[in-house]
Amino acid sequence: MDCEIRAKISSEWKLSPETIQHYDSFYNNTVKPVIKANYLSHLVATVENTVNERKMGTFLNTVDGDQEKIRGLLASRTFRLYSIMLVPVNLKRRATTRYHKFGAIIYYNSAYEEKTVRILIAHELGHIVNKELLKNTVDSEQTANLFAYIAMDDKNKFYKEECERFISDSDVQILNDIISICPV
Ligand SMILES: [Zn+2]
Repeated sequence: MDCEIRAKISSEWKLSPETIQHYDSFYNNTVKPVIKANYLSHLVATVENTVNERKMGTFLNTVDGDQEKIRGLLASRTFRLYSIMLVPVNLKRRATTRYHKFGAIIYYNSAYEEKTVRILIAHELGHIVNKELLKNTVDSEQTANLFAYIAMDDKNKFYKEECERFISDSDVQILNDIISICPV
């Protein structure tokens, strides 16, 4: 963040240089490294949410009418019955998935380059889709690859064709957009 931007933020939102520095450091040291390791996060979250919704539906049908508290808790959607985690490890294999009662953990070999890791994770998500969402399907390496191909091709098209409309010309433009969209 350059001096000009810091000065503008400070005068616009009446924030001290210390507060601005604190948020800047927090983002760069705490949030950004995690974002970088959350490969294919839209895809992971979408598969995770779809499985979660399905398990919620099944579970709600088994809850008796007098268990209103449980129903309320589940209906709030903040309580999850299914999560997918990505864990970097030193594996002999390139990637593998362990299934648990309330989710799945994708272990991937972090020695590979990022583009390879993304493909490995897309393939593992294919196994989760086979197992949790396409009920009458026999899980196989071939169909996990098929899912990986379709998802990665869609992502690639997004990066090539749609990313441009989300790009701002400059940091000043981003700041001006926030000032006009979120007035304080
Ligand atoms: Zn596989």
